[in-house]
Formats: sequence, structure tokens, C-alpha cells
Amino acid sequence: MSVVAGPASAPVETLRLAVAAESEAAGRAENQDVALALAIGPAPGDTSGEDFLLVVADGMGGHPAGDVASRIAAETLRDAFPAMPSGDLGLALKQAYRKANGAIYQEGQANPAEAGMGTTLVAALLHGKYATLANVGDSRAYLLRGNGLTQVTQDHTLVAEEVARGAITADAARNDPRRNVLTHALGLNARLESRLPGIFELTLLPGDRILLCSDGLYDVLDDVDIQRTLSGEDPGAAAKALVEMAKGRGTRDNATAVVAVAIPTRVPVVSPLPAPASRTGGVPGMAIAAVIAALLLLLLVLALVLLGAIPFA
Ligand code: CA
Repeated sequence: MSVVAGPASAPVETLRLAVAAESEAAGRAENQDVALALAIGPAPGDTSGEDFLLVVADGMGGHPAGDVASRIAAETLRDAFPAMPSGDLGLALKQAYRKANGAIYQEGQANPAEAGMGTTLVAALLHGKYATLANVGDSRAYLLRGNGLTQVTQDHTLVAEEVARGAITADAARNDPRRNVLTHALGLNARLESRLPGIFELTLLPGDRILLCSDGLYDVLDDVDIQRTLSGEDPGAAAKALVEMAKGRGTRDNATAVVAVAIPTRVPVVSPLPAPASRTGGVPGMAIAAVIAALLLLLLVLALVLLGAIPFA
């Protein structure tokens, strides 16, 4: 049976997510960054579909075994989220960060060559239009909405804290030689401070982009570079272009970009009308009525003929 669309059926704009990750050694011999962009299972009982885990971990340069620390951090999150938790996502991320911190610290204690290793960790759980992000260190999450690029996460660096206190300006912080000195990282202490990680929540709009990246990327790109490169629809092409641009600008560090695009999707609203003397059912119905009327007329004529009312020639 055909469905007849109602007269006031404007399409509803919704979104679907596409994600990609790109990470290169770029300005160094070895890549101590780790990036993940994974589709994960739905929460129990949830049928709405699209769930993703995004991660960037940047092993601390100058520390031994930075690559071990970033790998443990990323793997701990990957293992913690085979599927979207059904409860408080911020709390679930905090617990996973505590687990990652403990695992890195214990690995460092057990292996003197790895003692003192640490890593940044920025992560996002995406459930349809809902994004929950967590951060320790100076890897970043950005949101591009329209033409506006904003940093979602707060850096745990000396200069970021000075900017927050009003001691220096954000512009001065960009070129401050101490800008990569971290105040917090995972794995340096047995316990992570209770206020860590920072948790940030977003409700995505169709067309939004999220970028997770390491300092080796954002240190050499300005906001306009990032905004222009992120605006394409293909997250893989955007992530690759950002890393290539960082290399082209001569980054001396590893360069990593994880990109999520909330692709606008127009879903037509179909409101079935009650079937009128409908096109599908009406024609056969009328034909049957016409046949019955013709038969009745024939019977009437026959009766009149038999009664003599109509002379039979
Ligand atoms: Ca770095």
C-alpha cells in the first residue's frame, strides 16, 4: 500500500558521525603519540546506534619511555570502553583515567628504565549528538561550529594556569618558552588528583567538527589553519591534511589529529493520512457498485416486461 505524505512534512535535520585518526612521527625520529578513533558497541538496551571512542595520548618528551606511557593510556581506554557505558559517562571516563594512571605508574615502578614516564591523555565518548570529553595534560580538543573554532579542554600547563590567573595574556602564552611545561600528566604519581581529569560535555549540532590533537600539531598551526582544514566533510582527509600542514610548518614534534564530523542528515517526516476514497481501493469498489446497479436495472426491466408495462415487440 502506498503511503501518502501529509501536507506539512518539513524534513528534520539530524546528524550521523564519521571519525578518523592520523598520527606521524613528523619532526622526531620516533612517534610517542598514540591516536584512536574507534566505533564501539551501544549501551545495553540502546538501539539508537552510533557510538565512538576518540583518544590522543602524547608521551612526554624528554622523559624515558614516553611511547610506553602513551600506549598504556590509549590501550586502557580502549579496553575500558568496548561499548558505551549506560550510566554517567564523565564518571566512567574518570574511572578509566584512574586505571590508566595506575597502570602507567606501576609499569614505571616495575621497570627502572621506564621510571618517571608520563603521558597526556585527551579522550571523547560520542553517543550520537552527545559528546563527553576528558583531559589531563596539554593535548587538546577543539570544537568547530560554523566558522567559530573554540578550545573545549583546558591545558594543564604552567602558562595556561598563568593565563587563567591573569598573570600573562593568551597571546603571550602562545610564544612563551615554558608553554610545554606540564602541571599534570598521567603516570607520574601513584594517584591522580581527585579534580582530574577535566570533564567537558557538548551537544553537537549538524555540521560540527571535533578535533583532538597533540601539541606538535597545534603549536605550529593557528586557528584559521585549523578551521579551514577541518571544514571538509571527510574526517580522514581533514586529519591527514592537518598533520601534513604541521609537517609543512616544520613541527619539531610528533603530529597527531583525530577528527569527528557530525554530518547533517535530512530525514523526511512521513505522516500517513487516513485513506480517503483512496486511489488504490476506490476504483475496484466503484466498478463492483456499477455492475450491481446494472444488474438491478436489468432485473427491473425484465420484471416490467413480464408485467406487461413495457410492450414486447
Ligand atoms: Ca608532543
